[in-house]
Amino acid sequence: MSGVFDDVLAANEDYVRTFTLAGLQPVAARGLALVTCMDSRIEPLEMLGLKPGDAKILRNAGARVTDDTLRTLVLAVYLLGVNRVIVLPHTGCKMASVSGDEEVHDTIAARYGVDTRSLEFHTDSDQIGALHRDVERIRHHPLLPPDLPVMGAIYDVDTGRVTPVDM
Ligand SMILES: [Zn+2]
Repeated sequence: MSGVFDDVLAANEDYVRTFTLAGLQPVAARGLALVTCMDSRIEPLEMLGLKPGDAKILRNAGARVTDDTLRTLVLAVYLLGVNRVIVLPHTGCKMASVSGDEEVHDTIAARYGVDTRSLEFHTDSDQIGALHRDVERIRHHPLLPPDLPVMGAIYDVDTGRVTPVDM
């Protein structure tokens, strides 16, 4: 493994020298939780005018509201100052451009010989439909406040625009 992480560890040495975030509180200063995709084209703070300390960022493949997302939101709401939630998938997401989980399983099996069928990837070719259902999962979760504001929106990776689709 020697060398594989040298670039990021060296960069961190520079970061530490000019570190300015000491003393930030763990409570989300602007009360926001953002559920978005792991896609490396997404810069979640800058796109919404946020800075470190402002928001809880939850990321996974496809920006899906999974059981783990809900678990994290419950903690974020009751312990970490979150009082509003945005669910934000994006244009060009692989998780919404395949026909279903089978296609992903088949692709990985063909390329690497690995059988991933024990995993649920939560792909959905109906991205907007999935977003509406995910937003409803949060709105109707029995442990989350019924009046918690939840917005579903799409992030355009070509323009940077966030377009609300469910609010
Ligand atoms: Zn994605």
